Amino acid sequence: MSHPVTCTIDLADGRGKQAGELKLPRGTGDGDTVAIPIVTVGNGDGPTVLVSAGTHGDEYEGQVAVLRLVAEIEPAQVSGRIIAIPVISTEASRANSRFWPSGANFNRSFPGRLDGPPDEVLAHFFTTVLFPQVEMIIEMHSGGNGALIVPCSHMCAVDDPVQRKAMLEGMEAWNTDVHFLYTPGDNFFPTIAQEQGKTIVTTELGGGGRVPAAMHELAWCGLTNVLRHFGVLEGEPVTRASLGLPPARIYDARGADELITTLGSGLLDQVRAPASGLLEGLVEPGEPVEQGQPIARIWAPDGPTRPPVEVPASRTGLLLGLRAIPVVEEGKGIAFVGEPITREALLAEVGA
Ligand SMILES: [Zn+2]
Repeated sequence: MSHPVTCTIDLADGRGKQAGELKLPRGTGDGDTVAIPIVTVGNGDGPTVLVSAGTHGDEYEGQVAVLRLVAEIEPAQVSGRIIAIPVISTEASRANSRFWPSGANFNRSFPGRLDGPPDEVLAHFFTTVLFPQVEMIIEMHSGGNGALIVPCSHMCAVDDPVQRKAMLEGMEAWNTDVHFLYTPGDNFFPTIAQEQGKTIVTTELGGGGRVPAAMHELAWCGLTNVLRHFGVLEGEPVTRASLGLPPARIYDARGADELITTLGSGLLDQVRAPASGLLEGLVEPGEPVEQGQPIARIWAPDGPTRPPVEVPASRTGLLLGLRAIPVVEEGKGIAFVGEPITREALLAEVGA
């Protein structure tokens, strides 16, 4: 059966560099489609890797890195096949928005359905057409405009020991100082990819409304090193040890977000604003915190003489992310903290 999302290149033909488009019906009944550029670079035998960014339109770090990848790499450098979608949510990216113009959050659209709105139809294409063709996935996020998150690659702690170890090693190949574990909701992109047994590496590359040059470099070096680690891009992968760096630190932010599955909310919901007002951060993402320690305080513009309301750290560990926009509403998520965990403990949980 043909899918309503069509592709102008033959995805099964992995040879050479081919650039085309996914055409997503807008569902308006007049044949109008959204065009999503897609590029495949393939050569000889090796794994097939999906590289994607721009699930959230305002997260540009990954989008730029994937654009650079498809511009710079040539088939002779590849063993296997790279399927790259630099900007999934094209209209959200142009609008500098996390969400689609319809309000859809594409990382809550999975597994998707054929009779749903366009975001769910596209998710269904990923779930049923794209994912089955690939063995590994690199899906790049950041804090976008709304959050500053410690620059890192991260993962969900899947139950299968072989898959967990492969995902851990893929995550580590980004060579960031910090990594963290999180709990995805049932309707997240990684959840469905993992259920199909894929090795998926995801990232949070900063955020907060601008991308420093060093962050572009981290995105590029990490992306290409993970591709080398997967064996699809030529060259030996580098490690933190070979770079003379200390081992990365891993933090556990699982269970930080029990409400994700019910509310479709996000990482920052571990710590919710106790009041509305203007947020003054007291600690930067990447700094250690003690449970109960004030990590921020909220001032009241409508009550200038009132003392600020303090926001205590939810646990002891590392502040992983903080809201980047000072104006906050009571009850909205503003921060999250991870507790240290070793890679050995992470693997031992499932006997890996
Ligand atoms: Zn994102």
